[in-house]
Amino acid sequence: MKNVLRTLVFDKQVSLTLADTTETVREALRLHKLSDASAILLGKALSAMTFTSACLKETRGEISLSLQCDGACGSMGVSGNRSLKLRGYIENTALMGGADESAYFGRNGAITIIRDDGYRRPFVGTCALPDRGGLDEAFEAYYKTSEQLPTRLKTVVCLNEKGECDFAGVAALQPLPFADENALQQAAEAPLESVLQTLREKGLEEAVNARFTPDKSVWELRTAQYKCNCSREYLSRVLVTLGEEELRKIIEEDGSVKVHCHYCNADYEFTEEDADGLFAGS
Ligand SMILES: [Zn+2]
Repeated sequence: MKNVLRTLVFDKQVSLTLADTTETVREALRLHKLSDASAILLGKALSAMTFTSACLKETRGEISLSLQCDGACGSMGVSGNRSLKLRGYIENTALMGGADESAYFGRNGAITIIRDDGYRRPFVGTCALPDRGGLDEAFEAYYKTSEQLPTRLKTVVCLNEKGECDFAGVAALQPLPFADENALQQAAEAPLESVLQTLREKGLEEAVNARFTPDKSVWELRTAQYKCNCSREYLSRVLVTLGEEELRKIIEEDGSVKVHCHYCNADYEFTEEDADGLFAGS
């Protein structure tokens, strides 16, 4: 199902991204056993990164978020690519408390965004977590300081009493470089929370049409999903880079090499027999 829509609004001067991230968050909750507070935090990060991934221009593009803080949240990581495959993890899967995210971030923390378009050196931007506000405000601060793009971003994750995700979404407005005062003002005042509410009730296209006067010359509908890119083949290639001697030493000591993927909780095991196969002919 198409769940990401990008278009231009406010006299073609501001790009609007609207995404229904419910399925992505549901898959994250299926893979990770999370408390409600942890689920909301990771779900918001996945939603925000659905927006950043949708902004990637190169087909090989990848973008990742790393959040580090001295609060209860610990670290959190989310990655996405141009084909809108998202994956993520949160260190503390058992956060307890209310909806005030900033309470989980402690006193010191930062988000780092690494954007890799596959050609040049990756762009790395870091921004301290703001004193007030949660993840949305952290992303807005990041865009303002690291990319000099005054971006408005709002994410929402709604869980039911059973802890299941009823709805999740993101709405983002990013003025183009030539945007005039009037467009900037309209972007600053747009009620993104109620746009998300309309998205929940009426779906993507209706939400955009009901809330904005979009310029349909740009009308990009795509599908985002939670999908890890780990595989036995990929890990085999990584293990080969360790070198035969090192790999066989670990297998001798531990019986096998075990690799855990924290994005999807898959476990891989490589035995002596696998090592024989990996280094056959070398
Ligand atoms: Zn994985």
